[in-house]
Amino acid sequence: MLHSIKSAIIITILAAISIFLIFFTSWLGAQSISSVTIGAMTIPTLSLQGVMQYMSFLFCMLMVLVESQNIFVRALPLTIVLASTAVNILKIMRTGQLSSVPGLSAALTTFCAIIIQMKFIRRESANSKTDYVTGLKNRRIFDETLRESCKKGKRASLAYFELENFKRINDEFGILAGDIVLKRVSERMKKFVGNEISLFKMNGANFAMIFPGSISRKELLSTLNEIIDEAAKKIDVFNGEVSENSFEQSCEVSLVCGVSKFPDDASDSVELLRDAANAISYAKKTNAHVIFYNKTMEDEMTNQLEAEKLIKNALKNNWFYLVYQPQFETNTKRLRGFETLIRCRKPDGTSVSPGIFIPPAEKSNLIILIDHYVLRRGMMEFKPVLDKSKKKFILSLNVSAKNIASSDFADRVKALIEETGFPPKCLEIEITEYSFSDSLETTVRNIQMLKNIGVQIALDDFGTGYTSISQLLKLPINLLKIDKSLIDNIETSQMNRDLVDSVIYMGHVMNCEVISEGVENERQLSLLNAHKCDFIQGFVWGRPLEYKKAVELCMKPQ
Ligand code: C2E
Ligand code: MG
Ligand code: MG
Repeated sequence: MLHSIKSAIIITILAAISIFLIFFTSWLGAQSISSVTIGAMTIPTLSLQGVMQYMSFLFCMLMVLVESQNIFVRALPLTIVLASTAVNILKIMRTGQLSSVPGLSAALTTFCAIIIQMKFIRRESANSKTDYVTGLKNRRIFDETLRESCKKGKRASLAYFELENFKRINDEFGILAGDIVLKRVSERMKKFVGNEISLFKMNGANFAMIFPGSISRKELLSTLNEIIDEAAKKIDVFNGEVSENSFEQSCEVSLVCGVSKFPDDASDSVELLRDAANAISYAKKTNAHVIFYNKTMEDEMTNQLEAEKLIKNALKNNWFYLVYQPQFETNTKRLRGFETLIRCRKPDGTSVSPGIFIPPAEKSNLIILIDHYVLRRGMMEFKPVLDKSKKKFILSLNVSAKNIASSDFADRVKALIEETGFPPKCLEIEITEYSFSDSLETTVRNIQMLKNIGVQIALDDFGTGYTSISQLLKLPINLLKIDKSLIDNIETSQMNRDLVDSVIYMGHVMNCEVISEGVENERQLSLLNAHKCDFIQGFVWGRPLEYKKAVELCMKPQ
């Protein structure tokens, strides 16, 4: 809009100036520089006005060659020509004389100027249909194509792709490298485009493919996997340039794809794109390459988003607090210490259980913030209790697998120990078997660093994961925590009793102490005692307590 107002103003000014100039030169030089006389008619071959027109004609020719984008330059010859033609017409009407040569030059100049305008318009319109970097059809054409197809009720599948690590590529190798990666990926994807299937470059690092008609899920999945494999080949990067022959640095490219089908999943093109984009988010969260949209997936996403919102609010507004569940020595009932468990109370008084927000937090990075909150608050709250009671109680804190696998975890815990003055020997970190499924090396390094300063490590929920005995033996842990599910049927099932017995035995062979969690009754308690389980935690001797009650328990004579 602004651009066209600007153009209109420039053209008007130019037109005014040139009309003035033409009238002025006509007045000055209506007398011909040279002319021929045919019969009674004198035809001027060159006049000042003619010179001007020749010049603008040459100027136009030049512009056809250079294809200037400048609006001022493009408008100049056309306005001069229009103005001078108007003057010629007036002159002919007034004098009945034909100014033939300048008239011819005016016609040629007009012709050139029109060619320039047409070329420019054509290029502008091509630019508005294609993506500048990849040359693929752009988002506008995608919208039009998909809208049209859905309006006609045609069956189609939409595959929406995202270049997962594009931001990292841009940050690490530079924007130019990012552009070349986009171009390479688009070239690789183009190989799969046929008469029917069309490929589009969407916003950012996204691409879209429309597969018209009804294509079977199996066939589509196999094509999409082929595309992803093809695109995922390495691209070698060199000094911000990407070159196939350079092996200096190479970037991994990975595509993730969400698929939605019309009319099965959506009633119009907007919904169809939204569903495919949701499928991508889901694919990214579940580490899948291709995900077909479905309704349950959307419900899960909604729950995830709601939980994330709750966690952010809770962290910001102090809705989280800690409860402390006591742990006891099995044969003496001596208090060993506490496991801290997070709780969330909303301003309306309702409580949300960690079972609702911990799993979604683990799917996002919010678990790192939660763990930090729990570690800091737990140490800060419990330090004065240790000081006052003068006893060595253990404070056990749950840490997610994701957190313990991050390279700076041990340093972060050390910093909190320093900040709070908490004695490391009274600190225990509870991890689960899942902590060892990814980034085993970093996890073990973190654990070792913490053990070196005296922190203890407990393996929580033991019996629910898949750690092999040989792997378990290599883990640097102090305490094995038998999961409630193994304890539950211990009174009724001989097999469970034998299982628990072997786990306790194995723990002791590994030089670990063993604790059973979720112990609910006296029968379970005496069986565990008989099987030499060192500690117990459960409703039978103590539910999770509010901070004040936990402090009171610590102060009681043992
Ligand atoms: P967990 O670490 O295995 O915690 C034990 C869970 O069992 C707690 O549930 C506890 O209240 C419950 N429990 C303890 N004794 C008994 C019993 O005798 N009977 C029954 N039925 N349940 C018992 P909670 O507090 O709902 O926590 C559930 C899970 O949420 C925890 O399992 C842990 O995985 C996670 N969680 C809780 N607090 C935190 C935290 O601060 N950080 C992290 N990362 N995860 C936490
Ligand atoms: Mg635990
Ligand atoms: Mg547990």
